[in-house]
Amino acid sequence: MNSSEQARNQFLIKNNLIYKEVSHNDIIDHGEEIEACLGCDCSKIPKLYQIHWTEIPEVVGVRKAYLFMGETHFLPENIVYCVKRKLKNEFFESLMFQKENFHKLKDQRQTYFIKSLPLIVPRKHYNIIDGVSLSNIDELAKTHYPLCMRHLHRLLRQEHHLKYDGKMQYGIFLYYLGLPYEDAMQLWREEFTKKIGVKLFNAKYQYLFKHQYGRVGRKYEYPSSTCQYIINYRLPMYQQTHGCPFKHWSPQKLRDTLEQDCHGQDIGDIEDLVREGKYQRACTKYLCKTKNIHEGKVATIDSPNGYVQISIKESSDCLDSLFSMGKI
Ligand code: SF4
Repeated sequence: MNSSEQARNQFLIKNNLIYKEVSHNDIIDHGEEIEACLGCDCSKIPKLYQIHWTEIPEVVGVRKAYLFMGETHFLPENIVYCVKRKLKNEFFESLMFQKENFHKLKDQRQTYFIKSLPLIVPRKHYNIIDGVSLSNIDELAKTHYPLCMRHLHRLLRQEHHLKYDGKMQYGIFLYYLGLPYEDAMQLWREEFTKKIGVKLFNAKYQYLFKHQYGRVGRKYEYPSSTCQYIINYRLPMYQQTHGCPFKHWSPQKLRDTLEQDCHGQDIGDIEDLVREGKYQRACTKYLCKTKNIHEGKVATIDSPNGYVQISIKESSDCLDSLFSMGKI
């Protein structure tokens, strides 16, 4: 063990940061996949850590991890991401605590410090669009959503259900879109209860949607999903609907969809990018073609929420119809 590994271990022990190690048997059982994902020789690594993917999405997003049954297996040098996330969460939790107990503080120095916090803590939800509500979400989905989210929204409305990964992908997107918690809950409840009873919805699903908005449990804020994350996340299997259409749909399904709002040559250009594995560029081209945006004007799309923002910004005519609803 070299000195930096020793220092890292000492730091973890000293701060009582205990992370689960992957057992030797699991490393042997999943050796090939681990080596393919991490690009290392399993016999030469001292240990691997294991944690639920939501605790370390940065490592999953840049493909430095092996993902199995929702658990991320990663090398010790990436433990820094867990520590960073834990620190950030503790910081926000203690801010929330201070906020709730603010009225009990007697010390003027403390009250002065806390009052000045909004000036120095960056806004968490920089992507939020003002005025998004249940009354304009269908219009917004039709006009400004990227294909991945439009597909999930349409299925939610039509099938009144989404599988777990779809619920996560769409729920976190809605949070960063700025759909208020009450509206989001109403949307999920209204749709799901067309198929199941309210009691079952409350017992089985409500918690997840509350969790997505940081209302229960650790009051955790999920990171917003990037295209890279969605593209590299596990493949949608039978009846699953998450993922990126440019990466995960069959050529025919994608073509049928593109034909609804793109023309011959444009479709061919998008398909060429897809064949080359340039999914985000394909999505950017799709946005530009459907919104008549000059392609040099926008950077490559890197998140579904970013897509919506550019689409709204560049489409003043479409935006007028939302404005006229008095909601945005
Ligand atoms: Fe969605 Fe990103 Fe794929 Fe576009 S490139 S469809 S925004 S995941």
